[in-house]
Amino acid sequence: MTKEEIFAIVEEEDVEFIRLQFTDIFGTLKNIAITASQLEDALENKILFDGSSVKGFAPIEDSDLYLHPDLSTFCIFPWRPQQGKVARFICDIYRADGSIFGADPRAVLLDACKRAKDAGLNIFIEAECEFFLLNTDDSGEISLKVKEKASYFDIGPLDMSENIRRDIVLNLEDMGINIKASHHEIAKAQHEIDFTNQDALSCADAIQTFRMAVKTLAKRHGLSASFMPKPFGNENGSGMHFKILILDKDGNNLLEENKKLSKKARAAIAGILHHACAVSLINNPLVNSYKRLKPGFDAPVYVSWSSNSNRSTLLRITGERNNQIRLELRSPDSATNPYLCIAMLVYSILEGIEKNSALEEAVNENMYSNEITNIRKLPSTLKEAIEEFKNSHFVKEKLGTHIFREYLSAKENEWDEFNNAITDWEIKKYLERY
Ligand code: GLN
Ligand code: MG
Ligand code: MG
Ligand code: MG
Repeated sequence: MTKEEIFAIVEEEDVEFIRLQFTDIFGTLKNIAITASQLEDALENKILFDGSSVKGFAPIEDSDLYLHPDLSTFCIFPWRPQQGKVARFICDIYRADGSIFGADPRAVLLDACKRAKDAGLNIFIEAECEFFLLNTDDSGEISLKVKEKASYFDIGPLDMSENIRRDIVLNLEDMGINIKASHHEIAKAQHEIDFTNQDALSCADAIQTFRMAVKTLAKRHGLSASFMPKPFGNENGSGMHFKILILDKDGNNLLEENKKLSKKARAAIAGILHHACAVSLINNPLVNSYKRLKPGFDAPVYVSWSSNSNRSTLLRITGERNNQIRLELRSPDSATNPYLCIAMLVYSILEGIEKNSALEEAVNENMYSNEITNIRKLPSTLKEAIEEFKNSHFVKEKLGTHIFREYLSAKENEWDEFNNAITDWEIKKYLERY
């Protein structure tokens, strides 16, 4: 879209407010709303904000940051009033001297995509987003009391939220995000919405837009959406699977050779597995994330891959779309920062292919049924993930020292905070008995 086209739409559609959006290093979407009268300034990249007030961003002595709207992300929020509409841009962030602000997670992903392009690769992703739709109690707080009995693929009236899913899908399609499928998930009150194939950057942008839409529309229906990875101990958690397609310059699927997994595909998988533990702190960013990565809940526990439909591994081969071979990465969860997560994935693939990394054997048996000792485990706590992250040159180099340092220190604080907390479980178990 050109600037002129955008001015015309704003005029014709009676757009009154424009949100300039960006994402912080922890994956939280932020925005500033400007009035349509400021659009010209915005499109000349003149809107600035205080980067020192965004956790993990800029120091106070060098805090002016400029928002550069990405014109291709312009869209109108269909759920806002239709008179005096609200539109948005996703923005890139620059410093006052005109250089790119390296701590912007979108910049990290843009860089990764550029590297992939330079290497002659185009990476496409279909994201599968899982989340919970929970009740709100009388005081307006999100509640864990669930009446719904529905499970995988159930229909209404067992599935009590099919109308909210419908609303989410229609609103997203209105905003230009194509939806492949939606359904009730395995856990009670759990849902999944899958996007169609898109390039890596558009996929990360779509995930952020999706989270905002889900939270907003759930509230409209009197519910609260949660992307917390594992709200219920004995139920499935929420993953964010990525179905990955890698094409070469000519549009050929790099993952297959004579209908079989190609050498490059094997090297790419090896790259992903090689860094799986180091990037766990990004893919699974919360104390709670590690409660999802337990046997028996369709989430990975080991650094493993399967050549069939074994869903207990971290990565599996899937061929369902036009019989094209694709990879399904199953470790990231619903709380990940999609820009950083996908950037690390792209870099892992690139490194694997560049080094022609050797791939260990596939595991085609259920990995939950036996004790496995000869395969590396994913970190089982945030603390273990912190250690893996800290010791990885790869992660430090690809994230850049600024994000690496800020992210690490925030996660170390989070772990300390958790360790100092007395949990409900401890109170129930010990307070009366001892
Ligand atoms: N909820 C599972 C996870 O945590 C996935 C289950 C599924 O997609 N069927 O990744
Ligand atoms: Mg799915
Ligand atoms: Mg699912
Ligand atoms: Mg899946």
